Amino acid sequence: MTYRAANSRYERMQYRYCGQSGLRLPVISLGLWQNFGGTRDYPGAMEILGYAFDQGITHFDLANNYGPPPGSSEELFGQVLARDFRPYRDEMIISTKAGYNMWPGPYGEFGSRKYLIASCDQSLRRMGLDYVDIFYSHRYDPNTPLEETMGALAQLHRQGKALYVGVSSYPEAQTREAHRILKDMGVPLTIHQPSYSILNRWIEEDRTIDACEELGVGIIAFSPLAQGVLSGKYNRGGASEGTRAENTNTTLRQSHIAPNVLEAVDRLGAIAERRGQSMVQLALAWALRRKEMTSALIGVRTLEQLKDNLGVLDNLTLSDEDLADIDAATRE
Ligand code: NDP
Repeated sequence: MTYRAANSRYERMQYRYCGQSGLRLPVISLGLWQNFGGTRDYPGAMEILGYAFDQGITHFDLANNYGPPPGSSEELFGQVLARDFRPYRDEMIISTKAGYNMWPGPYGEFGSRKYLIASCDQSLRRMGLDYVDIFYSHRYDPNTPLEETMGALAQLHRQGKALYVGVSSYPEAQTREAHRILKDMGVPLTIHQPSYSILNRWIEEDRTIDACEELGVGIIAFSPLAQGVLSGKYNRGGASEGTRAENTNTTLRQSHIAPNVLEAVDRLGAIAERRGQSMVQLALAWALRRKEMTSALIGVRTLEQLKDNLGVLDNLTLSDEDLADIDAATRE
């Protein structure tokens, strides 16, 4: 049966302006990094993606290498667009990126013009799109002049293949430089996509967050649940079946679930309980607490996880006491 979006889809979600641009993103966005690759069947994917859109999640985040295998998330999302989402294309913000290893040889990763332009064209073909809403340089490349990488983004912007451009995981100094170079070419740097969570505050420490605020660049935080660690499930008697920690090629390292981390997560659990929230909801409220944050970019493996995470919309406000307790819980 063909998908029809719920009429109520804009009733619950909140939207925030992305920096000083006119682009508004949902406070919860959905990424297709690990859970929508070649092993996910179409009905299973559509159940989650359709529910997300029904709840006002208008932003879907991809990259050339998402899968596994690389490219398969974009292919799957292309099928979803062709079969079910096409009537809603103009209600959606679809992003993709290039920066990590995608094909063999010297032109298949990092930040050259050759790689970025070719990769964007491949992504458009896989998804069956004429343009993406946001195209990112996925990582800073110290061996390519930033003028070249930003020049490629500006070219895609001018060609209309990317309506907005962004950078991901760029440190503070390179973010400022990228903004300046793009500005000189008449292209705004609209968005930065860094990792950010209660357990990972590097953008506060190196002041990337302050740079974005000053430059009018929006921020979308990836892995706001620390890849699931902040759900508390690794505290409750170890990983249950199917979790990311159990995956043979997992990106969740032992250091992410070291005893001191799990002790901190336990203490956070008590704060969540006091607030009458699940732990993921506490973690998402925290990631969104600053005005510089446009959106929290989550991943989900199941529909139940998505429903749990969306519960944050019922209580996004953290008191000064909550914030102090969260800091204390992670400092001890
Ligand atoms: P999260 O921190 O949201 O972790 C998602 C994982 O946490 C899920 O796959 C699931 O793992 C677990 N989880 C989620 N909700 C719950 C819940 N309610 N209860 C229990 N467990 C839960 O984000 P990701 O690390 O997945 O990243 C999100 C998105 O950010 C990606 O899809 C991608 O779009 C983007 N990203 C960007 C990067 C970049 O370099 N720019 C790098 C990484 C991500 P499990 O399988 O264990 O159940």
